[in-house]
Amino acid sequence: MERLLDYFKPQNYQLFLDIDKHKKMLQGRAIISGLTKRDIVKLHAKNIIIEKVMINGKEDDYIYKDNIIILETKADAEIEITIHYRTALKGNMEGAYLSTYNYGDVEELIVATQFEPHYASACFPCVDEPSAKATFELIISVPDKDDVVLSNMPIKQTKHFTSENVVKYTTFFEKTPVMSTYLLAFVIGKFHHQTIRSSRGVKITTYCPINHDPKILKYANAVAASSLDYYDDVFGVPYPLKKLDQVAIPDFEAGAMENWGLVTYRESCLLVDKNSSLDAKKSVALTIAHELSHQWFGNLVTMKWWNDLWLNESFASVMEYYAVDMMFPKYHIWEDFFTGDCLAALRRDALDGVQAVKQEVRDPEEISILFDGAIVYAKGAHLLLMLIRMMGEHKFFASMKKYFKAHRYGNTTSDDLWAALQRNAKFDVKKLMNSWILQPGFPVLKDGEQQKFSLSGSASDKTWVLPEIRDDMSGHYIINYSDEEFAKKLAQFDKLSLEQRLRLLVDRSMLAKTPHVSSASLIPLLSKFENEKSASVWEVMAAIIGDLKTFFDPGFEEELRFKKFVKNLIASKIKQLGVSPKTIESPDNIKIRSILLSLAIYARDKDVLEQMTNLYQEDYSLINPEIRTQVICANLIMHEELFNDYILKYQITSKPEVKADLLFAIAQAKELKNVEKLVALLEYPDVVKPQDRLHLFIYLRRNARAKHIVLDWVFKHWDYLLATSGDQSADDFPRYAANTIIDQEESDKFFNFFMEKIDKPAIAHTIKIAKTEIESRIALIAADKPDILKQLI
Ligand SMILES: [Zn+2]
Repeated sequence: MERLLDYFKPQNYQLFLDIDKHKKMLQGRAIISGLTKRDIVKLHAKNIIIEKVMINGKEDDYIYKDNIIILETKADAEIEITIHYRTALKGNMEGAYLSTYNYGDVEELIVATQFEPHYASACFPCVDEPSAKATFELIISVPDKDDVVLSNMPIKQTKHFTSENVVKYTTFFEKTPVMSTYLLAFVIGKFHHQTIRSSRGVKITTYCPINHDPKILKYANAVAASSLDYYDDVFGVPYPLKKLDQVAIPDFEAGAMENWGLVTYRESCLLVDKNSSLDAKKSVALTIAHELSHQWFGNLVTMKWWNDLWLNESFASVMEYYAVDMMFPKYHIWEDFFTGDCLAALRRDALDGVQAVKQEVRDPEEISILFDGAIVYAKGAHLLLMLIRMMGEHKFFASMKKYFKAHRYGNTTSDDLWAALQRNAKFDVKKLMNSWILQPGFPVLKDGEQQKFSLSGSASDKTWVLPEIRDDMSGHYIINYSDEEFAKKLAQFDKLSLEQRLRLLVDRSMLAKTPHVSSASLIPLLSKFENEKSASVWEVMAAIIGDLKTFFDPGFEEELRFKKFVKNLIASKIKQLGVSPKTIESPDNIKIRSILLSLAIYARDKDVLEQMTNLYQEDYSLINPEIRTQVICANLIMHEELFNDYILKYQITSKPEVKADLLFAIAQAKELKNVEKLVALLEYPDVVKPQDRLHLFIYLRRNARAKHIVLDWVFKHWDYLLATSGDQSADDFPRYAANTIIDQEESDKFFNFFMEKIDKPAIAHTIKIAKTEIESRIALIAADKPDILKQLI
């Protein structure tokens, strides 16, 4: 793949951006100084309109084709390129884009940016590659006096100018340190804010749109301050900027983006208050800790190229747990890592065609495929935890301090990291880790032998360099005990550590997807744990129940039998804990209750649903946050006549958590007219924002009445989805559809449609994985279902 850095090395960008959010227009002037390496210069520029190009102050000819500007010049010269251009602001959540929300009767506008991986070039011409580090001087003009204008650096000065009777408010930002283009950012709009300082005096300010109560910023500020203190300490190099801003944006594609000094978030990933559930608080803390670890790992030291994206993401994904565990030891946050990330990684990595943690990219379009949460984030994080436990935390972090010192403001590859760690390790770090990060999949260990995990049970000669094998949650592998050994372990379950227990269940649930272990054996296994006291064991049980759900045609008698089994399984524990939370309760019990109530909703347990409905209050802040999701949902299930009322509430509420609860609830609708209305909402961005569309789709795929209707909608509206989803997310629709296909008829429909769309690399990749996934699921159902049904009599 061609690298534009081979032609020209930018050193400084001076960017004058005149941005009018009302006219949806960005008028820009980029002055790029740098060194030429050849006699032509190439710059990335995505869908901009060029007005004039100058080299060293003289107007010059240029070619602008396929989103690249080509200029002729002299090789090995210092030059200054000036480009006058403009571009429209759209709502596509890429480049510089518009985000909207309603405040009272007024539609408020925010301009935000999302440049990772290569959308900086949709905002200004540049060499949009992570190695092309340069300094940036940003100047932004806006027409609104009361708009807050933020960027990576502190404000140097503000001025206002009048030209042609129009006043423009201009903000000059301090020059940035050398950094990658994808980390530049700015935000324009009206915001509430709160400020705090880290122990070293870094000014931290968190912002939210003005339709929120500013109290909702307090938690995020406190977590950011503790995270900075923690990383200052363990990374050895202090946070290098003078300030850190965090902003919640109403329209946001991912969870958050680590822009240096100006981290942007989806509202639900930043804004929590005293009415928030423990889960929401945990998730916000993890997201903030993740993004702030990137300020070092990613921003200060950056991967040389996207194939080493894992250096950024796997690291941030393990550091977030270290940081949150330090801040909130009572959260027992590592348990969430084991039952969440580790399990998700195993499940995804079991599919043929899934990428390795470190993956080559041959085409710019393939870069978006890299961001596979289960692999580059979760699996990579698990592999790092395995390494950290082998080295010992102390030695690991001592090496990291040296790594940051040696590579700050530079770019690195995996090899640089292995070399830094090797000095403190007694084993060959590179040999071990390369064997895990360069090949997809994982081994099953049995009697000292290893075999690649395969859903079909087929043999493979792939092997891994094995670490010291432990029966806790340290490694990304499966231990296959014989039935007798397994029964023996199970008999002494209470004597095992929590991690040993989780491994036993996680491994068994994975093996049940293969011919080695029958899925029918999971039914009596679940029954053994009906009085279980650990929330994370219940978490794995819920995942196993989720797997078993796929064996039954929704709405048929066999499904009712399974629902009855679930209802019986949870009965005694619900009785013991009660539907209402107690004033003083352990985090385990809070979590278990929430899992049980969700299962009761799945099983349509009338008794429990009625008890939940009795706790329903029109004022949602009066419902206990730990069961609010389930109560709001149960009330609609029992009173579907409230459907339209719920939709209205969904539209009006500004609280991200309540909005998520309402979306989940309305997606349970059973009446055809309501289901059809929901599916139609996928096309109404004023009601369901494009950022939330995928969630609604996923919920509807789990709803027996809506399942097929919503997939037909995707087929019919595919071009609309592509046009409105941005590059990265359109392939999520086939990915999540494949997740829930359980019969040949729907499988045929799915492939008939998508096989014609595989000219796009991201879709081709998704469809290839879907093929093995669906085939093995249909085969598994055929093989194991008769025995499962026998267990359910
Ligand atoms: Zn990240």
